[in-house]
Amino acid sequence: MKDIFDNTKKELADMLATKGEKTYRARQIFSWLHSRGVRSFEEMTDISKGLREKLAGEYTAGSIHIENMQQSALDGTRKYLFSLEGGGLIEGVFMEYRDWNTACISSQVGCAMGCRFCASAVNGCERDMTAGEMALEIYEMERDTGKRISNVVIMGSGEPLLNYDNLIRFIEIITDPDGKGISQRNITVSTCGIVPAIDRLSEEDIGGGHLQINLAISLHAPTDEKRRRLMPIAEKYSIEELMGAASRYYERTHRRLTFEYALVKGENDSAGDAAELARILKGMNALVNLIPVNPVSESGLTRPDKKECIAFKNKLENFGINGSIRRELGSDIDGACGQLRMRSMAQNSQTGI
Ligand code: SAH
Repeated sequence: MKDIFDNTKKELADMLATKGEKTYRARQIFSWLHSRGVRSFEEMTDISKGLREKLAGEYTAGSIHIENMQQSALDGTRKYLFSLEGGGLIEGVFMEYRDWNTACISSQVGCAMGCRFCASAVNGCERDMTAGEMALEIYEMERDTGKRISNVVIMGSGEPLLNYDNLIRFIEIITDPDGKGISQRNITVSTCGIVPAIDRLSEEDIGGGHLQINLAISLHAPTDEKRRRLMPIAEKYSIEELMGAASRYYERTHRRLTFEYALVKGENDSAGDAAELARILKGMNALVNLIPVNPVSESGLTRPDKKECIAFKNKLENFGINGSIRRELGSDIDGACGQLRMRSMAQNSQTGI
């Protein structure tokens, strides 16, 4: 059965029209699902019993479940392991900042990109997530924490731009003012750099307005040669092509670009690397997010120490490029991307579940 959460308001209206229902019902149902937090048709008290029963016979409502949650004693960050009724385990993270709360969500079960440092890549990509499943990651975190989430980063497992249609539907759903109404400016899509998909996103008109979504590009190295050692996708698209697409995205949105750069000891963290990185970003309105690489045991990669990270950031800034060393939230609870899921899968395979 399909999940009712996977429909945009327009799709609900079309579906209800085929049942001879008035179109305003779509707004009511959409709002129950995406704003008022229900997980069953019975709870939709202003919808007729007949229609509720009909829908319950055709759709599920809310097909993801919290399997496990770890809360950081240091900063309140909560890391979730979700199981999907459609199959698969994925992770999401709830982060509290001073003035807002952010959800980091997954877009695929696993990931096919094979970045050397990333735990999500270890078993490849099992499947794409639906738009409804992505939205439900946010709603489940809100239910569990009792707190409102205003910001969303699509930086969990998966490559969102390879699940393009579901990503766009997801954005349409969570920005709908009759649902959560999250501002496009508070949404960040993180990509390893699928050049044609970045260009496609630049052309998108979500909700009929001006595209305002933030783009984060996982760069991680200043030259094609070094990038290829860390990220297989670099075999397909050169940094020059990637920068071209990033600039076109900026021309369209005027949103500052973020470049993610995991500092890996001996691979991309020298003063020469910082100089080269500054050279390729010169003139762009960009922020470099420096992340000391989370050591995932399979990778054998290690992080430079704090002093070396600061030196790299200072070097960039001497060249006029803004850098920030990402504040590490939840470092006591399996901080590294994909670790919780990996551990659970390992346990399951040990116990034969
Ligand atoms: N596929 C997308 C989004 C998911 S990864 C992308 O590549 O951007 C989200 C971010 O976490 C990426 O920048 C990714 O490179 C980074 N990341 C993954 N594993 C990491 C690790 N072990 N240490 C630091 N950053 C990591």
